[in-house]
Amino acid sequence: MGFSTDAVHAGQEPDPSTGAIVTPIFQTSTFVQDGLGVHKGYVYARTHNPTRTALERNVAALERGKYAFAFGSGLAAISAIMTLVKQGDHVVCSENLYGGTYRLFEKVLAGYGLRFTYVDTSNPARVESSIIKETRMVFVETPTNPLLRLSDIEAISRITKPRGLSLVVDNTFMSPYFQNPLDLGADIVVHSSTKYLGGHSDVVGGVVVTSDEKAAERLGFVQNAVGAVPGPFDCWLVLRGIKTLALRMREHDKNGSAIAAWLEDHPAVERVYYPGLKSHPHHELAKKQMRGFGGMVSFDVGSLDRGKRVMEGVRLFALAESLGAVESLISHPATMTHASVPLEERLRMGLTDGLVRLSVGIEDGEDLIADLEGALKGL
Ligand SMILES: *Cc1c(COP(=O)(O)O)cnc(C)c1O
Repeated sequence: MGFSTDAVHAGQEPDPSTGAIVTPIFQTSTFVQDGLGVHKGYVYARTHNPTRTALERNVAALERGKYAFAFGSGLAAISAIMTLVKQGDHVVCSENLYGGTYRLFEKVLAGYGLRFTYVDTSNPARVESSIIKETRMVFVETPTNPLLRLSDIEAISRITKPRGLSLVVDNTFMSPYFQNPLDLGADIVVHSSTKYLGGHSDVVGGVVVTSDEKAAERLGFVQNAVGAVPGPFDCWLVLRGIKTLALRMREHDKNGSAIAAWLEDHPAVERVYYPGLKSHPHHELAKKQMRGFGGMVSFDVGSLDRGKRVMEGVRLFALAESLGAVESLISHPATMTHASVPLEERLRMGLTDGLVRLSVGIEDGEDLIADLEGALKGL
């Protein structure tokens, strides 16, 4: 089936007891058994819940994997993945990972004897040269936040596969509509469903997808053993969000492309970061690896003061963290999402004080451009 058909139907059958077309919110903690050991596949709701099962089957289909596991947040999903490695093991990661992922790795997991090296994974040779005897996993985010740098998933998988390393891709920014890492050779895909999958700024969640039997067995075990599961209502919200994922992503992409092109021509803007622009250093890879360029756009206006004036000048864009929902958001990475990154490190990565990040929503493109025009006028 096509993507949009799967988005609406995969994992969801009309409820057999009532015919309800929408998978119900099974707000129950336990399930009555017909007799000792005789049940309908559901025993206790941490282990399995029918609303969660529907979501897991749905996302597995969209990411073209065999198994999916839903969690209470994107970070809970990533922590479950990290139980696939053990004390003494080493993980090669993209530099400039989502801040919460970096914090989980360095402030929590490093204390349990896991070691992480952060490299520019947009250069596969840097991945290869960072592999040591203890390396077990490569963890890639593509595109990255907020500079939208891309890593070549297929090229990296040609490095990880022969060495038996597990390649994990955080696909939150593209969503399965624009990018399917498993098809490109990744072993595990993770999403913060808080973002595009949910899509409406009304839920926090995470999902892991894989076709690897061994990883799936462990992830399913850990999902139940650790218990960082999402509630049925949260699963229902994500399922509802996903039904319109294809429509929303097309609009995000259309608005994102138009705004990036408009910003690139604006005299007050020094630089625009958007994989759909010909000026983007990884534009060719973007066209090869992704089916669209998405709704994340960053641009540099040259200084903190000018960035502040843009942030304070907009009316329609809301000043907020997070991304991937129907409403447009604006943020200032240097003082918001990346405030904890040391200044020198930030500047080395190009994460300057004048950098502004947009999560472009699905409002009318002309209104969004008019809003930015007003905010940039004074500069
Ligand atoms: C938001 C985000 C996460 C973390 O997800 P939560 O749902 O906030 O826990 C991980 N990776 C990326 C790329 C994100 O944007």
